[in-house]
Amino acid sequence: MYSATTEIHFAYGHRLLDYVGKCAHPHGHNARVEVEVESEQLDIAGMALDFTVLKHGLQDWVDAHLDHQMILRHDDPLVPILQNMNEPIYIMERNPTAETLASLLYEIAQQQGFSVAMVRFWESPTSYATYRPTLVSANGSQAGDTGRRPPRMIGPETREEH
Ligand SMILES: [Zn+2]
Repeated sequence: MYSATTEIHFAYGHRLLDYVGKCAHPHGHNARVEVEVESEQLDIAGMALDFTVLKHGLQDWVDAHLDHQMILRHDDPLVPILQNMNEPIYIMERNPTAETLASLLYEIAQQQGFSVAMVRFWESPTSYATYRPTLVSANGSQAGDTGRRPPRMIGPETREEH
C-alpha cells in the first residue's frame, strides 16, 4: 500500500456553541490540513497521487468556501446578522471544530474522486484532530461510503485553543 500526503492552508474564523470558555467567542485560526491518499498501485508515472491535482481540487474548494470566512453552526444567532451585513460565512450542521472540519474536508476530497485515507486538521501549531473512516465492520466488509460516521479522533483533544 502506498500513501501520499499533501497540505493545504487557509485562514478562517469560527466560534463554538454549547461550549463554555473562550472558544465560545468569535476568533480565528490559520489552518494547516494534511490530506493522505492511499493506493495499492502506482500509476504509469509511478505516483500514488498527483499532488497537483489534489491540491488544485481541494485548495480551490477551500479558497471558494472556507478561506477568510466565518464558519458557523447553522443555528448560530450570528448567521442572520452576518448574512444581512453581506459578510462571507460558511454554515455547518455541527459545531465548526477541528474534528468536524477534518470530516468535512474528507467528504469534499472523496466527492472529488480521491481515495482519501485520512485528513488531519491542524487548528494551531500544537493541536490537531484527525478524521479517518472506519475501515472494517464486524462482518468484515468495507464500511459504506454513504453513511455518515462519527469521526474518530486521534491526537490532542484539548479544547483550549479552539
Ligand atoms: Zn477556534
